[in-house]
Amino acid sequence: MNRIYDIAVIGAGPAGIATSCEAVIFGLKNILVLEKSDNHSDTIRKYFNDNKPVDKDWKGIEVDLKGHIDFEDGTKESTLDLFDDALEKNLINAKFNTEVSRVKKYGNLYKIITTNKEMYLAKNIVVAIGKMAKPNKPSYKIPSTLRKKANHTIADCKGNEEVLVVGGGDSACEYAYFIHQDNIVTFNYRREEITKANPKNVKNLMDCAQDGEIKLMLGVDIEKLEDEDGQFKVFYTNGEIKKYDRIIYALGGMTPKEFLKNCSVLLDEQDKPVVDEHNLNSEGIYLAGDIAGDIGGSIALALNHGYNIIKDCAYENEIHHAISA
Ligand SMILES: Cc1cc2nc3c(=O)[nH]c(=O)nc-3n(C[C@H](O)[C@H](O)[C@H](O)COP(=O)(O)OP(=O)(O)OC[C@H]3O[C@@H](n4cnc5c(N)ncnc54)[C@H](O)[C@@H]3O)c2cc1C
Repeated sequence: MNRIYDIAVIGAGPAGIATSCEAVIFGLKNILVLEKSDNHSDTIRKYFNDNKPVDKDWKGIEVDLKGHIDFEDGTKESTLDLFDDALEKNLINAKFNTEVSRVKKYGNLYKIITTNKEMYLAKNIVVAIGKMAKPNKPSYKIPSTLRKKANHTIADCKGNEEVLVVGGGDSACEYAYFIHQDNIVTFNYRREEITKANPKNVKNLMDCAQDGEIKLMLGVDIEKLEDEDGQFKVFYTNGEIKKYDRIIYALGGMTPKEFLKNCSVLLDEQDKPVVDEHNLNSEGIYLAGDIAGDIGGSIALALNHGYNIIKDCAYENEIHHAISA
């Protein structure tokens, strides 16, 4: 017979890690964690450059941590170490290389189906898949011959290239700043002012621009791209045409609506997932981390979601035990 889990957590990023660790701390030991990549925190591993400073109050949004994971300002590496320790200490054995494709109501339970055709049963589901599995793409076409040079991270930037970084948030600022010493970098944002990023990141960018180390293309958009001898020929809306070896798109991520629908997650009229103050979406289904918010979240917010959810589940559990005793 199939084992029935109290909670199945989908995704082992900060939100999934916090949910599973808090669950153990609150005494809910029958936990399943399913992660599609081969390790936890895939977004951090993929999108954060090595030694990247990790801010607790990301984007300047102050978060009062409620749970048991002592996250503080650090680096990519110290953050991953913190999560390694939390998982080890709480004996969480996530199932890696396990991508969930569907969640179906099954009597009082939920049936979870993975892409490799495994099936699990759980009383509660926590969807903690983040948004970076589906990074936002530009509306214009990228020449198929140059697809490999249109990236969402700086992992392939090896230096000595003309690189265009497109975006207006912290990731774009950090990427441009991080690669500018080894490359000729242009930063393009469609608005005149960068208002969405942490002031510290904007200052770094502006200082470099003032010193002529990064070129700014603010208040202009890109109309189209062409391949010219293996380079991107970029047509800007102000009529300028420039050439680059590589383009980094740091445009954030989008909510994977179809996936959420397939996972029995309730969406509103605008196809956005609904959550209450306990991160509850519908009976037995919770959303944690970036996927629970309209705009980009943060690690600290994701950790708090995990704590909120488990407090709610533990409370429900207590009531259930009290009634059945
Ligand atoms: C470049 C960049 C820099 C950032 N810097 C900071 C910073 O300094 N400080 C800060 O607080 N925040 C920062 N953030 C934001 C932060 O990374 C996110 O808010 C945080 O990672 C959200 O955690 P999460 O658990 O919700 O999602 P994620 O971290 O995206 O984790 C989701 C996990 O779910 C897994 N998954 C996805 N789909 C499935 C599936 N179908 N089945 C199973 N598993 C699945 C993924 O592989 C992943 O491991 C940054 C983001 C970016 C992109």
